[in-house]
Amino acid sequence: MDMQTSFLDRLFESGLLIDTSVDGLYGRSGQFEDVITAFERLIDKVGGADGAEAMRFPPGMNRAFFEKSGYMKSFPQLAGTVHSFCGSELDHVSLLQCMEVGEDWTKGQEATDIVLTPAACYPLYPTVAKRGNLPKTGGLFDLQSYCFRHEPSKDPARQQLFRMREYVCMGTEEHVTDFRQRWMDRGVEMMKQLGLEVVIDVANDPFFGRGGKMMVNNQRDQNLKFELLIPITSAAKPTACMSFNYHQDSFGLKWDLSLEDGSVAHTACVGFGLERIALALLHHHGLDTVEWPESVRKALWG
Ligand code: 5GP
Ligand code: ZN
Repeated sequence: MDMQTSFLDRLFESGLLIDTSVDGLYGRSGQFEDVITAFERLIDKVGGADGAEAMRFPPGMNRAFFEKSGYMKSFPQLAGTVHSFCGSELDHVSLLQCMEVGEDWTKGQEATDIVLTPAACYPLYPTVAKRGNLPKTGGLFDLQSYCFRHEPSKDPARQQLFRMREYVCMGTEEHVTDFRQRWMDRGVEMMKQLGLEVVIDVANDPFFGRGGKMMVNNQRDQNLKFELLIPITSAAKPTACMSFNYHQDSFGLKWDLSLEDGSVAHTACVGFGLERIALALLHHHGLDTVEWPESVRKALWG
């Protein structure tokens, strides 16, 4: 049995994760949620004084905004769309017949106006753009959302529906790259407090297909994405538990985000993978949070 499957089995046996018979789709116990709540409190403590504007969006977003974002150009393999039955009574009868005989009943489903949110910051850009020019101080936003990515796996650190906490900064190039650097330093410090060994490395998103290779190279060459990595189910391939993304002015141009003087805003976002951080803690300090080192418990629960 590989390390991923055995860790997943231990998480099921302990009840921390609840099996749904779909890889990457899990229920979570009260104890698991308690770790996430405590970690989010730590995020608030570290970042709270920055005065970010909090917004919470549901895990589905406007399909038109999703289309405009270009997600289907870069990551078609990960997207999830919400479809519904929109037919007549007759269509309903044939749908039920299909189900009865075990045929594919989903073919008649039609796309709704909603797609599943792929990253917590996606619904933010069109929302901020609608307000008009950003103030002189730029914009700083605090987000958290369940996100969907279609990548079924036995690795408990790769889930299809997981929570991402994000800070998003909008402003000049200097303003947003300073923000990103500040959170890289803070991220390392936070994980140190939690007794987790981390490295930060340059990274890339999983752009689709042959055309995607160019995007990967460009992202890496320009240091647009960094990840904070912690070994969870593999020492050789540690897991990205935070990411630090600099979008240059690409989202500013796409969404028409302007600064007070009319120049195009640069943006950056910093994401915490909440389940991954909980799993890193459980992997390193054991499955019973009561037994965790005193310093770690103090950092999380005071
Ligand atoms: P990114 O947009 O950089 O791919 O993801 C942001 C953060 O979300 C990552 O640093 C990671 O912590 C978390 N994340 C990304 N993919 C997954 C996944 O498949 N499962 C879980 N649990 N977290 C993920
Ligand atoms: Zn983001």
